[in-house]
Amino acid sequence: MITRLLQLLDASPVNFLAVKTLETELQRAGFEPLDAALPLGAMPQGRQFYVKKNDSSLYAFRIGRRPLSEAGFHIICAHCDSPTFRIKPNAEMTGEGGIVRLNTEVYGGPIMSTWFDRPLSLAGRVILRSSDPMRPQTRLLHVQRPLLQISNLAIHFNRQVNDGVKLSKQKDMLPLLGVVSEELERGCLLMNVITEELRVAAEDVLDFDLYLYDATPACTFGVHDEFISSGRLDDLSMVFAGLDALLMAGSRGEAETTQVLAIFDNEETGSQTKQGAGSPFLASILQRIVLSQGGSQEDYLRAVEQAFMVSADNAHAWHPNYSEKYDPTNHPVLGGGPVIKFNAAQKYASDAASAAVFSELCRLAGVPCQRFVNHSDVAGGSTLGNILASSLPLRGVDMGNPILAMHSARETGAVRDHEYCIRAFTQFYLS
Ligand code: ZN
Repeated sequence: MITRLLQLLDASPVNFLAVKTLETELQRAGFEPLDAALPLGAMPQGRQFYVKKNDSSLYAFRIGRRPLSEAGFHIICAHCDSPTFRIKPNAEMTGEGGIVRLNTEVYGGPIMSTWFDRPLSLAGRVILRSSDPMRPQTRLLHVQRPLLQISNLAIHFNRQVNDGVKLSKQKDMLPLLGVVSEELERGCLLMNVITEELRVAAEDVLDFDLYLYDATPACTFGVHDEFISSGRLDDLSMVFAGLDALLMAGSRGEAETTQVLAIFDNEETGSQTKQGAGSPFLASILQRIVLSQGGSQEDYLRAVEQAFMVSADNAHAWHPNYSEKYDPTNHPVLGGGPVIKFNAAQKYASDAASAAVFSELCRLAGVPCQRFVNHSDVAGGSTLGNILASSLPLRGVDMGNPILAMHSARETGAVRDHEYCIRAFTQFYLS
């Protein structure tokens, strides 16, 4: 189970590739692709479908036996984007000796210092010219070798480096790409990488969305291999727990309720995009499912009232080096099971009623369940559940597996929690 997670993580260096990984796994399990621009067609019970938006968000569902207006939807949502650095247009900066750096822009809120001195590479999508200017072609790019590095300043130039360093996003975070070896390469190094990887002509490359990723594969560590070390555990560990629960639920016979897995993009920048949780896209797809079954608008609104959402986004695990940062009575530990998140200011969707549902599902699955509340002097983060509520007034819970070093280039999770989470999610889909 954990080897599979590590493989899925390595295949998913950025949002676009994560969606591709999901698509591959869903197709293998018999899910049929839908195009939101076309009529969705009939939706008989037992059939499984998925639809994508912008190649960076994906919505999979299995039609249940019970009418939607009576049983509602069982929805797990998570996000496939993670903090990183986006390559700017005209990115090459050639300096002394022909040394080339790439100009980058921060995406989300990374712990920037963790991106230094480690092999990095590039992934994302490249847009190519086609015969129709309104519909250019999209190709995914995943450079699968170390290609770049953001190198530190030597300690001899900054003796205070271990007292903390203020980093400039524009000056300090520019990775080295290479050295121009002949004049013909000047200004073309990045383009050469793209055209060689994709085997396309430079004049056909119209634009790209490319990001840095940590080129070191995910792994487990610890005396008993009890920990996971990887980039993007937030939130791909929840994405793939949701995926495996959906596949597991499918292997347990006929679905009672309609099971939905919604994977959004752009959570790290506030979710307000057409492919983010702030978009009405999921609501429109759920509505179209009801309508394509011959249901009415009234049936759809009833289905929303009956639905339950598990908003799955990682939680903060108790860090033994910094125990003063945590709430004195609610500090989930690594390996202690999925975490329900509460916030009095309602940054999380959880309340006593929805938390009771989720903790009961955990109990039925034989899985321990923890609770997280911020230390009252710490602001904390937000997530998907409440943003989604503006377009879909769903009953639901915000939860996630506990991790350390959230938004580091490499985060730390626990093997056991991943297994627990799949069991709890499977129980939810089958309930
Ligand atoms: Zn997250």
